[in-house]
Amino acid sequence: MLNVQEQVSLKPYNTLALPSLAEYFCRVNSDEGLSEALAWAGNHRYPVTLLGGGSNVVLAGNLSGLVVQMAIPGVELISEKHHLRRIRVGAGENWHQLVVHALNQGWFGLENLSLIPGLVGAAPVQNIGAYGVELSERFHSLEAVHLNTGERHVMSRSDCKFAYRDSFFKGQGRDQFAITAITLELSSKPDLHIEYPALQQAIDALPEAELTPKRVSDIVCDIRRGKLPDPDVIPNAGSFFKNPIVSSEVAAKLKHHYPKLVSYSLDENRVKLAAGWLIDQAGWKGFERDGVGVYNQQSLVLINMGGSCDALMSLVVDIQSSVMSKFGITLDIEPRVYR
Ligand code: FAD
Ligand code: NAP
Repeated sequence: MLNVQEQVSLKPYNTLALPSLAEYFCRVNSDEGLSEALAWAGNHRYPVTLLGGGSNVVLAGNLSGLVVQMAIPGVELISEKHHLRRIRVGAGENWHQLVVHALNQGWFGLENLSLIPGLVGAAPVQNIGAYGVELSERFHSLEAVHLNTGERHVMSRSDCKFAYRDSFFKGQGRDQFAITAITLELSSKPDLHIEYPALQQAIDALPEAELTPKRVSDIVCDIRRGKLPDPDVIPNAGSFFKNPIVSSEVAAKLKHHYPKLVSYSLDENRVKLAAGWLIDQAGWKGFERDGVGVYNQQSLVLINMGGSCDALMSLVVDIQSSVMSKFGITLDIEPRVYR
């Protein structure tokens, strides 16, 4: 039964805790519920905005039309072949709880992606990634509903056009599809990826012990808890800026001027720069103004201590221009900004 509420505060539904009102709001727990919600919005000619856990959005104003929180549950093992475990997961499942559940079942491959906030349905939108692993590497397909036509689609990995923290759903497919479920390919055989320096260092510091996927997950959780603010305590949206990807020539010139530049070669022609390092060097680490600030342990994370969205966006502009004038590099915002 569709339950549409009017003038709902979205403050509890975004991890930056920005004050914003949804003109209409509903939560959907099934494919049928989603169809009803879309039909209701269509009949009223209201735009639809989808929300998961609100951990990758900046609500810069009130949202007109219908805000739909995707809460479709369910985790099922759909096939087992040799070591391969294919699982189908509802868009409304909590991502980290899925990682824990998978580990408990002996389905491995998600351990590096532990403790990422948010819900499963948003994971393909951002192609979530951390500690050297991306969702796309564990992805098989997804199910989605077109917001205007209501048609159901199954999309493969190539349909989703995954790239670095990017996908079809941030580009051509933006605001067109509600992802209702995803299918992942995991393995009953551990295949650990511990090359990422922060992970490797933490592992090296441990007394000799058997390294299991569960242990890698625990280590990732420990590193993250030590370095990232818990949004329930200090509201934030994770990394506020993307790591810029530049040509090798640009990176070489910068390295010449700044020998300590933190950069990672992606291939022959492209280099990824650590945006956090650029922001640190521009002097922003720990900066606070008008109730918003730059987290003192990780400059990529902007925090809200009771400030307004205007204060946040003004800080964003100042950070972007100082990084541009010092390094000539554009910093793009990672979360989706709704104005
Ligand atoms: P939301 O913020 O609710 O939505 C994000 C976007 O996806 C919106 O545009 C929304 O419309 C759309 N969307 C949501 N659900 C659906 C759906 N079912 N169908 C279609 N569109 C949908 N990200 C990483 O990649 N790696 C990290 O390590 C990481 N660490 C983080 C740490 C912290 C402390 C925080 C606060 C964030 C971090 N993030 C990270 C960002 C964020 O957690 C992820 O992008 C996450 O996948 C967002 O999920 P969500 O459910 O909160 O999405
Ligand atoms: P970190 O370990 O301090 O590293 C800083 C940056 O350097 C990261 O952004 C990372 O890029 C890059 N990097 C480090 N080692 C690398 C390597 N061997 N190869 C390629 N790139 C490398 O980062 P952190 O801030 O503590 O975050 C740890 C992980 O969690 C990162 O993967 C980060 O993306 C993820 N994270 C993401 C968010 C978000 O909101 N998107 C928030 C918190 C953490 P990558 O970011 O490409 O890995």
